[in-house]
Amino acid sequence: MGTYPDVDFAVIGAGVAGLAIARSLIQKGKSVCLVDTRDIAAGASGTPLGLINPATGRYGSKVWEAENCLNAVAKDLQEVQSSAPNRFYKNTGILRPAQDEKMVRRMRENVDKNDWPEGWCSWLDEAEVKDINPNLNCMGGAMWLPKGLTVNVGEYLKAKAKFLTHKGLSVKTGRQYELSLDKGQPIFKFDDGDTIHANSVVFAAGYETSTSKYWAFLPLHSIKGQVATFTSPEADNFDYSLSALGYIASISDSRFIAGSTYEHHFDDLEPDKEGLKYLKNRLGGVYPALFEKARLISQWAGVRASTPNRKPFLGQHPEIKNFYVFTGLGSKGLMYSEYMGNLLCEHILDEKRIPENLNVDRIEPQ
Ligand SMILES: Cc1cc2nc3c(=O)[nH]c(=O)nc-3n(C[C@H](O)[C@H](O)[C@H](O)COP(=O)(O)OP(=O)(O)OC[C@H]3O[C@@H](n4cnc5c(N)ncnc54)[C@H](O)[C@@H]3O)c2cc1C
Repeated sequence: MGTYPDVDFAVIGAGVAGLAIARSLIQKGKSVCLVDTRDIAAGASGTPLGLINPATGRYGSKVWEAENCLNAVAKDLQEVQSSAPNRFYKNTGILRPAQDEKMVRRMRENVDKNDWPEGWCSWLDEAEVKDINPNLNCMGGAMWLPKGLTVNVGEYLKAKAKFLTHKGLSVKTGRQYELSLDKGQPIFKFDDGDTIHANSVVFAAGYETSTSKYWAFLPLHSIKGQVATFTSPEADNFDYSLSALGYIASISDSRFIAGSTYEHHFDDLEPDKEGLKYLKNRLGGVYPALFEKARLISQWAGVRASTPNRKPFLGQHPEIKNFYVFTGLGSKGLMYSEYMGNLLCEHILDEKRIPENLNVDRIEPQ
């Protein structure tokens, strides 16, 4: 039990958002304590594998600021990996096979019209897809995104927390706390008797951010997803990741992962049989041979937070000027985290403007 030294920033939430803003602040010489009532990557960021996919939505439109976002997270992955013993990401590329005629038309439009950098996105016709993998179901072709990455997100974030600890980050996990303001100074009092005084607080608690009374006005929509790990002899026959009505990624040793976020109304947070059935039906249609002899190893469920314009909330509290927020990363948590963490950091420390479509001030407190 003890009092931590005062810190410039307490960051609430040890997922991709919390660790990204912690990293930016530390790089600018600030002292940071990362606080999580559970553990590093205990929330949505604990997904067994996540894709960094520069194309989004059913029809694969180019992600907002895709070049900046991908470059920022790729740089971070590389740096953290260089000090970690186990490999936690791969440059797999991402194949997006179309499943109906509308998908073919809209995806082709997105390949052609979007201003993709050289070598980022191309269209493969059906014969080319069958050459790559005759067992894949696609109608009319597929979008191919060779820059796509596949990440073991939990391993990445644990390695990142360790990496940042060497740069001065302090971490307080696994304890409940009360947060109060004493003459404007935030104080965390933990149930083990520890106390942390911070000058400012960044709330990055994923979908639970709006359970805080300070951010209850944020319209965060929670969507539950499920991910299952299987063994299958067919898993050795592909080494790219697939994105089609969910995602499929090969790991190693004849294992693969299938996942999707789709439950807009849910009562409990656990994985269930319906989730498994859903994944098998939906993704089994894309790659039947993979699921034919598949045996379940484990199943995981998580909740991600979406916002009305599908862009995260970044910025300052409307009344409490030393409170900030970084949440609502939706299905693009990995892709957005580092670049947007930097934007928020520059806003806090250098008063740079946050783009309107991201700034939390687009929401009027009720
Ligand atoms: C099934 C599924 C698959 C996904 N696949 C992908 C993918 O392929 N690619 C991709 O980019 N994104 C994917 N996502 C989305 C991505 O996981 C999220 O966008 C991202 O993890 C959100 O990160 P976060 O840091 O905002 O929140 P979280 O990861 O949820 O972290 C929030 C943290 O805050 C902590 N916390 C909560 N309340 C408090 C409190 N009061 N005090 C202290 N700590 C608190 C929690 O314990 C948690 O650790 C997927 C999501 C799901 C559910």
